[in-house]
Order: sequence, then structure tokens, then C-alpha cells
Amino acid sequence: MAVATQGIQGRCAHCQRTLLLTPWQLNAIAINEAFTCSHCQKNLQLSDPKQIRRFRSLDALAMLKASLLVMICTALLVALVMEWVGMLSVVEQLNYSLLAIFVYFIALHFARQRQHMTLIFEAARAHAD
Ligand SMILES: [Zn+2]
Repeated sequence: MAVATQGIQGRCAHCQRTLLLTPWQLNAIAINEAFTCSHCQKNLQLSDPKQIRRFRSLDALAMLKASLLVMICTALLVALVMEWVGMLSVVEQLNYSLLAIFVYFIALHFARQRQHMTLIFEAARAHAD
């Protein structure tokens, strides 16, 4: 499930329960809209500047992950081309490629850890019941 891989959680201001944020909830937060809690159906929003900053840092993280993937793919391609033109032996090319993939997974692991967060929501001011 896409939601589980996001790893972003939030705490509801009404029922104090933890919610695993769905893509549409994340979208609502991104455009500064109120959304409903999955448990108590009451309106929530992210209004604490510190929490908003944490949420915004996810964008940078997503971008970092995307550029990392491009970088590794380029490195693998370069290694392959270098083997074709005879600048690297097959073993060297394999070692180089394995190292690039290893670096990629290490970086991804740290990115995932940073992505694991719990946002503290507040009751939405507008449409409050
Ligand atoms: Zn709730």
C-alpha cells in the first residue's frame, strides 16, 4: 500500500489518535487545506510553523531521492559504456556498479529514516463543529 510506504503519521487534535496519512490528506496539507481525521471525522489542519516546516522538508527529501536515482542510473550507464569501449574490465564494471547500487541503498535508508515522522495537527479553524 502506498500509504504505508509514505511512513508519515500525524496526531489528531480531537481524538489524540495517530493517523497514517493518505495521499489525499498529504495533498490537503500541501495546499494548506483542512482535512478530516480518519478516526473521528473532525476537521484538522497543520498550522504550527515548525510542523509545516517539517512537512515541507519532505518535498526536498523526495527531490533528493529522485536526483539520487538519476545519479546512480547515470553512474551505471557510464560504467557500462566504459566496459564497452574497453576502459573497464567486466569485473571492474561489476564492482563499480555494485558499489553504486550499494551507495544508493544506503542513502535511501537514511532518507526513509528522515521521512519517518509524526506531524502534530491542530483543530481546523474554518468549518469547525
Ligand atoms: Zn481524530
